[in-house]
Amino acid sequence: MTVDLSLGEGTPNVDKDARLKRDEPETGITPGGSSGAFRDVLSPRHAHRGKPPIHFTDMDQEERAAAMAKLGYPSFRVKQLGQHYFAHYNREVSSYSDFPQQQAQVVENTFFPSLIRPLAEQEADQGTTVKTLWGLFDGSRIESVLMKYPTRTTLCISSQVGCGMGCPFCATGKLGLTRNMSAGEILEQVRYAARQARDGRLGQPSRLSNVVFMGMGEALGNYKAMMKAIRQISALPPDGFGISARNITVSTVGIVPGIRRLMTEGIPVRLAVSLHAPSDSLRDELVPMNKRFAISQVLDAAHDYYVATKRRVSIEYALMKGINDQAQHARLLAKRLNHYGDDWVHVNPIPLNPIEGSRWTASKPEDEKRFLDILHQAGIAATLRDTRGSDIDGACGQLAAKELIRQDQTESDPPQDIPNWTKD
Ligand code: SF4
Repeated sequence: MTVDLSLGEGTPNVDKDARLKRDEPETGITPGGSSGAFRDVLSPRHAHRGKPPIHFTDMDQEERAAAMAKLGYPSFRVKQLGQHYFAHYNREVSSYSDFPQQQAQVVENTFFPSLIRPLAEQEADQGTTVKTLWGLFDGSRIESVLMKYPTRTTLCISSQVGCGMGCPFCATGKLGLTRNMSAGEILEQVRYAARQARDGRLGQPSRLSNVVFMGMGEALGNYKAMMKAIRQISALPPDGFGISARNITVSTVGIVPGIRRLMTEGIPVRLAVSLHAPSDSLRDELVPMNKRFAISQVLDAAHDYYVATKRRVSIEYALMKGINDQAQHARLLAKRLNHYGDDWVHVNPIPLNPIEGSRWTASKPEDEKRFLDILHQAGIAATLRDTRGSDIDGACGQLAAKELIRQDQTESDPPQDIPNWTKD
């Protein structure tokens, strides 16, 4: 089944069939992957995927009120749950002093089933970076990374189990896609991290201020759950965590229909495009989705996103030694970006953190510097990205990927011992 993302919510005269088609449940296959020269890479586990239990954050207001009525409580109790969950990061109904306690456990099981549990944590950067490996209800593994900076605290979250994009330099890409995550599973990463930050897990108490969809998965391949999560990250309590939409970043390899749909949502999240190459011939190799949506289509959509939202687009570019980090690559990238005018993008080159045994390795520092200099000389804003956590497992999805590969080998679940990790 194909998920049609080509029409925005607000588009007039939306074709009924297309709307119906779009309302069908998503399979985890990206809309770009069902035709053209690209197919999502599926994990052998894809066939066995199940549905996670329904969570408070998966329900709309009517569904919450109906579930509450079924337990014999008036609808104002829903608001109380939302306040405890979003403002205090607390899902333990038995600890709510303002809530009837006779059925506390039933209420908790109904609205806040346990969706994710921390299996292990790794620290880096003197304790200001914490990476968490999560176990999901079906034994799946995902990860999130919490990072403290002088002026902000950022959480990088996963939106899919594995990833179907098949980028050959990426650990997650090697796994293939198992399934989409639910909004509840995505938001539980946020709640847990917000509580950790508040309680001083990163050294001093801080407030979670930024969320980036740059963990495992292609966020636009799980559009509905991603959007549901974004709305509840940005709404104020009792409807959401109250993190400004401007501090939320959605990262994509360039799913053009998804970018175009996102721009109709009226929510000013930042868009980050993982470009990694300035020419189609090279990008076809590094980012296989390019065979479906070529660079010019991706940059057209990214520039339209900038025009529609007034948010500068980030271009992510993993620098790989001798592959995409030479002067001619920087010059071509600058030319392609300047084609659309000034000041609409910010390029973030990031030294690749290679996976073991891979032929893709990190650039030399002098090549990184030259790459950056050429962009600057061409008038393009560019900053070498902070490689937070690179001394643990910096490449995207690598922590969970490592564990999944191990699990595939041993078929044991959950892990009993993970060397060098702090058990939670
Ligand atoms: S680099 Fe990103 S898009 Fe590509 S396979 Fe890895 S997680 Fe997926």
